[in-house]
Amino acid sequence: MRNQLFIDGKFVDALDGATIEVLNPHDNSLITRVAEAKAADVDLAVDAAARAFPRWSAMAAADRGRLLLKLADRIEEEADELALLEAIDTGHPIRDARNIDVMRTAACYRYFGGMADKFQGSVIPVEAGFLNYVQRVPIGVVGQIVPWNFPLMFTGWKLGPALAAGNTVVIKPSEITPLSTLRIAELTAEVGFPAGVVNVVVGYGETAGQHLAEHPGVGKISFTGSTAIGRRVVEASKGNLKRVQLELGGKGANIVFEDANIKAAVNGSAWAIFHNQGQACIAGSRLIIHERVADEFLDQFIGLAASIRLGDPLNPETEMGPLTSTIHRDRVLSYVEIAREEGGEVLLGGKAPSDPALAKGCYVEPTIVRAKASDRAAQEEVFGPFVTVTTFKDDAEALAIANCTEYGLGSGLWTSNLSRAHSMAASIRAGMVWVNSYKRVNPGSPFGGTGQSGYGREMGFEAMNDYTEAKSIWVNVDAQVPPHFQR
Ligand code: NAD
Repeated sequence: MRNQLFIDGKFVDALDGATIEVLNPHDNSLITRVAEAKAADVDLAVDAAARAFPRWSAMAAADRGRLLLKLADRIEEEADELALLEAIDTGHPIRDARNIDVMRTAACYRYFGGMADKFQGSVIPVEAGFLNYVQRVPIGVVGQIVPWNFPLMFTGWKLGPALAAGNTVVIKPSEITPLSTLRIAELTAEVGFPAGVVNVVVGYGETAGQHLAEHPGVGKISFTGSTAIGRRVVEASKGNLKRVQLELGGKGANIVFEDANIKAAVNGSAWAIFHNQGQACIAGSRLIIHERVADEFLDQFIGLAASIRLGDPLNPETEMGPLTSTIHRDRVLSYVEIAREEGGEVLLGGKAPSDPALAKGCYVEPTIVRAKASDRAAQEEVFGPFVTVTTFKDDAEALAIANCTEYGLGSGLWTSNLSRAHSMAASIRAGMVWVNSYKRVNPGSPFGGTGQSGYGREMGFEAMNDYTEAKSIWVNVDAQVPPHFQR
């Protein structure tokens, strides 16, 4: 297990020797101590990335792609080990870590490996005698800041397009969950990425993260995290006007219409909120149900949620693990109190499980709360296995409730009416809408939000656009003397 910073192709201690404890959320036992980067370490990483940039960006795009494809293969070969690291570090159930996180991560590197030499500029039809072509050129050194909820996957979403486009990277994983990112760094070296192309600085947000966001040598910051910190990143970035891409919080509306297939809606809605213990920006955390099917739906939904197997992430039977930290568990549970004070009714859960085997860990039971759409519990991101339930009478009311938060990231709707599906999908304020499904992602499909959920997109051609700049080149093909001052 790697526990140092990765700078200029080497694992190194922090300059001042500081370390951060990494805990296993299943029982809060110490897994390891990881070197803690501060400003001076971040400077070294940015310098290394800047030195690596000319060679990396000049390399044939197909050669950059080949390295990403090799990395994807190595990730699949190391699937068991990577899944284990992710499970002990984050609390993801091992079956999800293995079948979802690792596989989606490999698919993402593979997609961008294939993309590297297919992403191209254009020729613009301008006036006669001139050739105008537009190249997509890399930005330079890119800073990437990642949260703790899906560290392996999000590292892939950021590194894949940034590297394919020819940028070099300094990535700061969350101080809580750095282990899989360090292993990925090791694999990049193993498959032949040149030193300095990928650098990993584990550190706290207010020191290492803030310094990276302020750094004049960094041309772009890609940030995934909370809306509050996203605003600070924008502030920090303004010194050199760096580009900023923000993937922030969400409060996903998940609407069940009266004509929905109830069985499918129950199952999909449980996945929408309880996968990864609800620690997902796109989680379907607001269930909005037509009043005529609310009782039938809730009866089945509560039954399914109550049957979810909560437990040790390393048990292959486990369907929900612990939350990723004690602080976060306490924050999630505080929303149960907030909901009660607002007059909400707890229909299920709302507490830590009573099983003594889980007593030391950060566990919270699947929690379902009946709340008004305007309640804090239904407006603020809880980021846990906590879903609010609100009912509606008609489509207009469903839409008004769906659009009544400051966020606009992911949302879902369940209906068998085709025109309702399309008209609602068009009207919901969100970066992503799933119809009769929830939480689908694919490396080719743009991922991101609107409003307080941020701006810019990950994945697909959109991500390649976001990691490059358009450079317009004009050529006077006929070599005519310009007419302006002819004598
Ligand atoms: P966070 O905002 O606290 O931290 C995210 C990252 O930012 C961490 O690496 C942290 O160390 C760093 N950071 C903290 N302070 C910083 C500062 N002043 N300057 C620079 N970096 C700083 O978020 P979190 O608690 O780690 O993650 C949960 C949040 O992330 C939720 O709000 C969730 O919705 C959001 N999220 C969004 C997406 C998305 O794609 N839209 C995906 C996952 C998570």
